Amino acid sequence: MSETVGAEKHSFQTEVKQLLHLMVHSLYSNKEIFLRELISNAADAVDKLRFKSLDNADLIANDPDFRIRVTTDEKAGTITISDNGIGMTRDDLIANLGTIAKSGTAEFLSQLSGDQKKDSSLIGQFGVGFYSGFIVADKMSVISQAAGTDEAFEWSSAGEGEFEISEASRSGRGTDVVLHLKESEKEFLGDWRLRSIISKYSDHISVPVEMLKPAQPAEEGEEPEPSTEFEAVNKATALWTRGKSDISDDEYQEFYKHISHDFAEPMCWAHNKVEGKQEYTSLLYIPKNAPYDLWNRERARGVKLYVQRVFIMDDAEQFLPIYLRFVRGVLDSNDLPLNVSREILQDSSVTQSLKNACVKRVLTLLEKQAKNSPEDYQHFWSQFGNVLKEGLGEDFANKDAIAGLLRFASTENDTDKQTVSLSDYIGRMKDSQDKIYYIAAESFATAKNSPHLEVFRKKGIEVLLMFDRIDEWALSHLSEFDGKKLVSITQGDLDLGDLEDEAEKQEREKAEKESQPLVERFKEALGEQVKDVKVTHRLTDSPACVVSPEGDMSAQMARLMAAAGQEMPEIKPVFEFNPEHPLVKRASEQQEADFSEWALLLFDQAMLAESGSLKDPGSFTRRLNKLLLK
Ligand code: ADP
Ligand code: MG
Repeated sequence: MSETVGAEKHSFQTEVKQLLHLMVHSLYSNKEIFLRELISNAADAVDKLRFKSLDNADLIANDPDFRIRVTTDEKAGTITISDNGIGMTRDDLIANLGTIAKSGTAEFLSQLSGDQKKDSSLIGQFGVGFYSGFIVADKMSVISQAAGTDEAFEWSSAGEGEFEISEASRSGRGTDVVLHLKESEKEFLGDWRLRSIISKYSDHISVPVEMLKPAQPAEEGEEPEPSTEFEAVNKATALWTRGKSDISDDEYQEFYKHISHDFAEPMCWAHNKVEGKQEYTSLLYIPKNAPYDLWNRERARGVKLYVQRVFIMDDAEQFLPIYLRFVRGVLDSNDLPLNVSREILQDSSVTQSLKNACVKRVLTLLEKQAKNSPEDYQHFWSQFGNVLKEGLGEDFANKDAIAGLLRFASTENDTDKQTVSLSDYIGRMKDSQDKIYYIAAESFATAKNSPHLEVFRKKGIEVLLMFDRIDEWALSHLSEFDGKKLVSITQGDLDLGDLEDEAEKQEREKAEKESQPLVERFKEALGEQVKDVKVTHRLTDSPACVVSPEGDMSAQMARLMAAAGQEMPEIKPVFEFNPEHPLVKRASEQQEADFSEWALLLFDQAMLAESGSLKDPGSFTRRLNKLLLK
């Protein structure tokens, strides 16, 4: 530790400077949240010390009652938030209040647009935390003494690039955060104003938040006597321990904001107390909007874990699978030991059964939401649908429940809106239909305009249109739903089963026989490029298409794996042609040299429609131009 007496200047990390600037300029319509953030930090500090004192009771022996105090000094124009929590050492002050440790901060900052409304909701998701004090203060100082030490330090800053650290004194462990209010923000000194903000944001915090009792009414002609006694302003009971019927929606929503740092209300929540063999309380929330870093696999996720109402850890990811990483909430278990660590959690059978229970709760909650508020669910799907799909591959036990929550675009309405559930699809199936048909492609347009759809459109059979990168992979884990097989229409022999009538079948067989010589000519011309050549019965308007061979990886999947850097063996497609098509007829009239040009052209066209690109586009254009000139 340095020996410096007096102030020592430090510079903020660049990201802090940017965030400070943006925050002050975009959150001015919601200024009071600074108090929520600072009280929330004080409560966290108390929780941390309470946890640490389980092992080391000496830490709190001389001051065992935890509390947070909010006081004001009218003359100095300051509000002070004091706690007797864990406190910070000199190094802690520098690290915690001089940098932002969150991953993806730089990326987050680059997303801010300068549009105040948009930015304020983004900043809300990011969690403004300690620095929000600068929305109302032009100077902040923090005097802190870490529990178990006897030296205190002061951090102070005007929020403009630099902060100072100096030695200080404090009567014991804990932290005072002093806000020197801007001239324009003096209204926050009002006793009533502060009390109403505290009860709005902090009722559910389990630590009492105290303020001085109001001054005693004065005798005739005397100054009122200022009080020296403190009283709790918040309810100070952990929200989840209260009965459901005692908790208002507002309280649930406020609590969500406290644990998630999200400014928006949650979409819905489930609060359950379980007694008996297992005893726990869970309060799980589904957010409305995806956080800015949803796709960052490293991002903190999971629930806040309590054991017998004692805070144990944030972001306990052991209780929710990755595909439910958007869920926020609290889990309070009576069955885990108080000294539980992440390592113990990992191997505990209690963890496993709590995890199973949490997953069921979330999936049931989503099911209810889909049924009761389809519009909200649609919004949820747009935000988190692709994350939920990961569950098909990751959570075998709950596959059916997850499948029931999926939504797809479909030829039923031919828009890219993903609104059709598998049950909707089954409800509309033709009497003679026993399969769920889908196509997975690079984009909505490729899917919707795929030649593979021709026969389905002609027969009026609905096909689900998939065009999210994850679809093909996710669907490869779902072979059936509700007893109906899911079938990709671009893969393998198309078996329409009873959807094809006897006359059609005979006609097809006849065409196949008659076109056998042409099949041989195509095989000769296309050679190594194809696995097989067949007469199609998928096409009505197009001359040809390519199909992924049955049992092989589909073309779309192969592209995905290749894009992910996987070494892929080349998958040769099956070439299917439509002998009735005028272009195919024309080709068949050519001499062998010309026929092979035509065959290659038809093949490249089919590849282009399937994948949007060609291995050798130059030769394709040359061939096309040559034919156009003829
Ligand atoms: P967050 O609370 O999301 O971690 P904040 O910006 O609110 O982010 O706070 C930054 C860090 O500063 C906290 O993680 C904590 O380590 C430290 N801190 C802030 N306030 C206090 C306090 N009252 N007591 C102890 N540590 C604190
Ligand atoms: Mg905080």
